[in-house]
Amino acid sequence: TEREETGYVKRNGLLTLSVFAVLTGCVLGAVLRGSHLSTQAKIYFSFPGELLMRMLKMLILPLITSSLMSGLSSMEPKACCRVGVLTVTYYLWTTFIAVVVGILLVIIIKPGVGTEMDSIRLGGGPVMTSADALLDLIRNMVPSNLIEATFQQYKTDLVPILKVSRVTVQPDFVYAIPDESDPSGRTVFLELTPPPEIHYKTRPGNSQQMNVLGIVIFSATMGLLLGKMGERGAPLVNVCQCVNECVMKITNTAVWYFPFGIIFLVAGKILDMQDPSNLGKKLGWYTITVLAGLFVHGLILLPFFYLVLTQKNPFTYIRGLLQALVIALATSSSSATLPITMKCLLENCNVDRQIARFVLPVGATINMDGTALYEAVAAIFIAQVNDYELDFGQLVTISITATAASIGAAGIPQAGLVTMVIVLTSVGLPPDDITLIVAIDWVLDRFRTMINVLGDALAAGIIGHLCRKDFPRGGTYKNKHNLHD
Ligand code: ASP
Repeated sequence: TEREETGYVKRNGLLTLSVFAVLTGCVLGAVLRGSHLSTQAKIYFSFPGELLMRMLKMLILPLITSSLMSGLSSMEPKACCRVGVLTVTYYLWTTFIAVVVGILLVIIIKPGVGTEMDSIRLGGGPVMTSADALLDLIRNMVPSNLIEATFQQYKTDLVPILKVSRVTVQPDFVYAIPDESDPSGRTVFLELTPPPEIHYKTRPGNSQQMNVLGIVIFSATMGLLLGKMGERGAPLVNVCQCVNECVMKITNTAVWYFPFGIIFLVAGKILDMQDPSNLGKKLGWYTITVLAGLFVHGLILLPFFYLVLTQKNPFTYIRGLLQALVIALATSSSSATLPITMKCLLENCNVDRQIARFVLPVGATINMDGTALYEAVAAIFIAQVNDYELDFGQLVTISITATAASIGAAGIPQAGLVTMVIVLTSVGLPPDDITLIVAIDWVLDRFRTMINVLGDALAAGIIGHLCRKDFPRGGTYKNKHNLHD
């Protein structure tokens, strides 16, 4: 029909504009690099891109809460259970497969063997242990204050404690410790023998980031309970559905700003990046290994699972997701891409609304195939650079910790780089060696975010197909309490 045709033209026009914006951003950034803009000028220049990120982030909280509450409340308890179990099982399974792909490729390609690299050693400071990280993950699942959870998440901090076993004072030594609290301003000269040892104590800390995991858990619980409350829960369910519709309407309007914002977001990043000629060949093979792994997982294995489980063409499905993938590439954040992924699934991929409202927010929080693959490759690459032989047991440890680290990583730019400490320490690798791969991380982050988003979206298609008996009319499962669906 004419309406469908207009929709088609609009969608493709927007997609073409977005791809064009990414390319324009790259060229513009590269051209302006020569002009050595001041920091202030760069901030002004990147402003339209910053605005794009702010718009997307603004939508995350209302989208996640309203999706989960309305999605789960309108499912029958049995359907809820089936969808929940299938989703979590599928997510864990694909993440594990991604890790295995990464491990196989890095062992075959051996990007780090014989590579001489200088890392900026930070002095072997302490790092969080895997147990600390696990406890933080669980703490974040149970936020103590919901309002705080919308802007802060829990992160253990390490505080240094100086332990001095013996102090000898010799006037001709030059260890000067000016004591600011001494009113006479005298300087005390000390030689500390042996040199003081620094120990570290963990203490509770907060990081300025939304605790999406806590919000997901709370909203899902509320959704389940609202569904059970029947008539009495209906008013809140309807509020959530209205909020959800409004967020999707805002998204539909905001997308027309995106191509413009993308140009400056990408150009701003290129302006800021380190001189690529300094990276040289050192990181080349490592980059190729990660990209090859992402390609195999995202464009061969995941589509294969989709094909086998649904008997439908995966690439027709992926074509409907292109807009979300471009946004993932431009923003490096699967949470920020969530509104667009939702839009693509509902408009282009004909996924059941209830399924999308549950599977996507949960996926954007815990399912990061690209991140898990990258963490495994990076850890083994660092081992190869250090000439450190990993036995089979250590490879198994890496696969488990990389899966856990990807679950713990937030869907924000370069979160995977931070949680990699868990993987490295679990097998005794120096966590400071993360500095070896920092320079190239922002590029890899963009591609792994695309695979993270792709994994969530394909999961929604697969779960929707497997549970189609519970949702017979493709997106029109009706609960008598819901006014809008
Ligand atoms: N940027 C990724 C995401 O948002 C997370 C990461 O791997 O750093 O999905």
